[in-house]
Amino acid sequence: MDMPLPTAMLGPDGLSAVFSRMRETTRRDPHPDLAQRTDRLKRLRAIVTEEAGAIEAAISADFGHRCVQETRLAEAFIVEVGISHTLRHLKGWMKPKRVKTEFAFLPGRNRLMPQPLGLVGVVAPWNYPLQLTLAPVAAALAAGNRVMVKPSELTPRFSALLAELVSRRFRDDEVVVIEGGPEVATAFSGLPFDHLLFTGSTRVGRIVAQAAAKNLTPVTLELGGKSPAIVDASADVAVAAERIAFAKLLNAGQTCVAPDYVLLPAGHENAFVEAYRGAVAKLFGDDPGNPDYTAIVCAPHRARQQALIDDAVAKGAKVVWTVADPTRWSNSAKFPPCILLDTTPDMRVRQEEIFGPILPVVPVQSADAAIATVVADERPLALYWFGTDEAARDRVMVETVSGGVTVNDCIVHLAQENQPFGGVGASGMGAYHGEWGFRTFSHLKPIFHRPNLSGLGFMRPPYGKTFDRMLAALRRFA
Ligand code: NAD
Repeated sequence: MDMPLPTAMLGPDGLSAVFSRMRETTRRDPHPDLAQRTDRLKRLRAIVTEEAGAIEAAISADFGHRCVQETRLAEAFIVEVGISHTLRHLKGWMKPKRVKTEFAFLPGRNRLMPQPLGLVGVVAPWNYPLQLTLAPVAAALAAGNRVMVKPSELTPRFSALLAELVSRRFRDDEVVVIEGGPEVATAFSGLPFDHLLFTGSTRVGRIVAQAAAKNLTPVTLELGGKSPAIVDASADVAVAAERIAFAKLLNAGQTCVAPDYVLLPAGHENAFVEAYRGAVAKLFGDDPGNPDYTAIVCAPHRARQQALIDDAVAKGAKVVWTVADPTRWSNSAKFPPCILLDTTPDMRVRQEEIFGPILPVVPVQSADAAIATVVADERPLALYWFGTDEAARDRVMVETVSGGVTVNDCIVHLAQENQPFGGVGASGMGAYHGEWGFRTFSHLKPIFHRPNLSGLGFMRPPYGKTFDRMLAALRRFA
């Protein structure tokens, strides 16, 4: 076996060489069996379980501080649960499925055979660098593929560590980590993969989809957007505020499915603000040094949060900080949580995905107005609804389109391995997690078995009376 190059040093030619070698292997060995896939998944899980300390430290160093429990819960745990679920079900998923045969083709038999696509590309963002690299890799390996994965340049320590950990446990024709920034990412997404899964912003998702289209490479796009939390008139505002606070401030708001803004019945703003401030104080206190609260990944992203606030305030919004003195945080890599009141649609904070700990609270006059606000915007990745009025809830479920929903909490739908996870419209296309990931990375090949005894023999020239009678009879059963 050739010695693998450090992937940080790969130029475009090196990238093509890795691609060609891996693609060639998928053509030579197209269908790894259950034992091989199980072994690969276990080796992948071992990275998470055996290297936890190094991974947590690298991610924290990249962020300037990442709460270690958040890395354990929202990254390692999700990956482990996903791999364990897959190991339990993989044998069943891999089996060709019996499919019914139309009367006209009996006694022929149909089978639907899942087949590995071949070589899969995975491009990941920085916000959950472990989960968003390894969960797609696990799904692709389960489906019998080889994988090239490109983590984000904003988490360079983690990316270098992942490259090393993967190269220690995987042959360089099984899984390879490619490090690098937008230039490498551009070259990467231009490779003619058999499938490409991209997680990241809607803006870059459009570029990736165009690059993939040139090769007719099918894409799964896991994108972002503005996920609303609707607090219904039937909700307990304090309970909703507390659950929204946890979800909003997990990873300091740098979560694709974080509640971006809140829609609540006009007149309840004060109750919500008080409950939210109380919840934040209980979760994180008032000290920027609190290790439970994560930093903003880099200075430009931190400056962007401040710019969103400045723009909103200049246009008439009011800031309510949840901490006593936000100036105490100005030398910190962290950004203090706040609520924005009196926002208007012309403000950046109402137009861009916030991706930080700023929460606009938008009063609405009715449930209709809440639905209309959501529907007028791009289709969100997630929607949250709080309340007890089932008819009101069902209206929102039916009349809004979003990637997924959690009712009476936030984010939890993402962790359901028996449900697909993905976006819709501007928040993405395709899905993974559990069997949905297995299917995304498989070609479901329909196979028809023709028996010797079959009416098909009568359905060909020279056409005559027998053909006419057969076709007439079959039409009656169609
Ligand atoms: P990003 O789009 O800037 O970058 C994501 C990846 O794309 C990185 O690896 C980057 O190197 C690569 N990239 C950059 N330019 C590229 C190009 N021209 N061609 C190909 N690849 C390129 O996103 P980000 O800032 O890392 O992550 C934040 C975004 O990701 C947010 O919008 C968030 O909502 C979204 N997100 C979505 C999910 C999901 O599951 N739907 C999960 C996490 C984050």
